[in-house]
Amino acid sequence: SAVRTVTVLGATGSIGDSTMDLLRGARDRYQVEALTANSNVEGLAKLAKEFGARFAAIADPAKLSELKDALAGTRIECGAGESAIIEAAARPADWVMAAVSGAAGLKPALAAVDRGATVALANKECLVCAGDIFMERAKKAGACILPADSEHNALFQALASGNREELTRVIITASGGPFRTWAPADIEQATLEQALKHPNWSMGQKITIDSASMMNKGLEVIEASYLFALAPDEIDVLVHPQSIIHGMVEFSDRSVVAQLGTPDMRIPIAHCLGWPDRVVGPSAKLDLAKIGQLTFEAPDFQRFPGLRLAYEALRLGHGATTVYNAANEIAVAAFIAGKIKFGAIARLVEATMNDWIRSGNQPPLHSADDAISVDHIARNRAAALLPQIAL
Ligand code: NDP
Ligand code: MG
Repeated sequence: SAVRTVTVLGATGSIGDSTMDLLRGARDRYQVEALTANSNVEGLAKLAKEFGARFAAIADPAKLSELKDALAGTRIECGAGESAIIEAAARPADWVMAAVSGAAGLKPALAAVDRGATVALANKECLVCAGDIFMERAKKAGACILPADSEHNALFQALASGNREELTRVIITASGGPFRTWAPADIEQATLEQALKHPNWSMGQKITIDSASMMNKGLEVIEASYLFALAPDEIDVLVHPQSIIHGMVEFSDRSVVAQLGTPDMRIPIAHCLGWPDRVVGPSAKLDLAKIGQLTFEAPDFQRFPGLRLAYEALRLGHGATTVYNAANEIAVAAFIAGKIKFGAIARLVEATMNDWIRSGNQPPLHSADDAISVDHIARNRAAALLPQIAL
């Protein structure tokens, strides 16, 4: 079969690493067009050389000369700054992995969407920030959005066994994170080290903290709503500590179709890479006899208010999910910096959402720039509210 050109946005991250690993296993079938990173010049240059990329972009503008030095003697072009990341996404590649973390990934992902690429979307924050706009742009450009997030990838696969009109409900599973069984007072005081110990998945720092607060599941409820045009009450969350079933779809006849797999992001990424065909995934098979039991619990909206706030944001609409995401990004950064307690993450998100509702200024979002402007306002409000939340 023909060689496909691929671009990986966020190549040096956890999803980037899994993606490069799959590409490494089938070198003759893929030509890497562009790779990007935020500040990790060394990692980026190493990958660009290994895969013979045509273009490498670093978001930090101060790192351009370092990147040039690292690529000296090669034919790899390079650039720095946000515009270079967008250029990387805009260059012709059949398939783009969008794995920048945070709403910073929105513009680059849109640059790939606008030229009608097949986009494997890991970067859920960009969808939470500007979901309707993102999906409309994809439709207009004829871009194909393939969910790389494991739960949404599972839903995408399960949805193929019925018609959209026959769907009654989707269920996304959650491991429950490291604090699943913790008392509220202990969750409140949890340290960074404790929050970074995820029971099943190995991931980037931000999403690992989001998993501990269950904000990640909140972001995923919103992500599912935009991706599949679902109302909030059509999306259920089910705690499943083994992370083997990733998502389920219920149809009108009450058949429930699930996708299973070991907790390894290479599996949903391989699905995106191969779609509509199948490629070879990781070597380890799912061994259910060894796992023995799959267990389930209802989510606890009291101990994990981030989950409740996600449903509230979805019901509010008009930019509320943008605010939810922006405030959470500020809160997570503040928690990592030691400025707030773990329990204050959800409180800051709630305070920012309430502040935004009280302001009475909730214009409908018509463009990505509208969403980015709400994102900036919410970040500023969250930063302003931070000192009183920290008390
Ligand atoms: P990481 O933090 O491991 O990696 C993020 C990547 O994006 C790195 O390459 C980083 O570069 C780059 N980056 C960070 N900030 C910017 C910026 N402002 N501009 C340009 N590039 C930037 O994150 P993950 O791989 O864990 O997650 C990536 C996305 O995928 C997130 O949206 C996350 O929610 C989602 N996701 C992740 C899963 C996982 O298993 N990890 C599962 C499902 C979804 P550098 O290395 O230089 O810092
Ligand atoms: Mg997920």
